[in-house]
Amino acid sequence: MDDASLDEFLDDADSGDGADAVEDAPGATVESADPAVDPATTTYAWSASAVTCDACGTDTDRRWHDGDGRLVCPDCKDW
Ligand SMILES: [Zn+2]
Repeated sequence: MDDASLDEFLDDADSGDGADAVEDAPGATVESADPAVDPATTTYAWSASAVTCDACGTDTDRRWHDGDGRLVCPDCKDW
């Protein structure tokens, strides 16, 4: 029994019919991210238990980021 040689496939590739030479269409890349869309950022933090406002120290169950990296109660949030 003769082993099928890789040379056979190489010979086929060299036969020159070009049927396998189809290339991906240029410029068909999929843009996976729209740069115009900002990534989700957390601007609001909720806790089931009372938390303390970073600004005034009041217990609250809802705090917002005040833009300075603090979580503040609604009274301290600069709307
Ligand atoms: Zn506060």
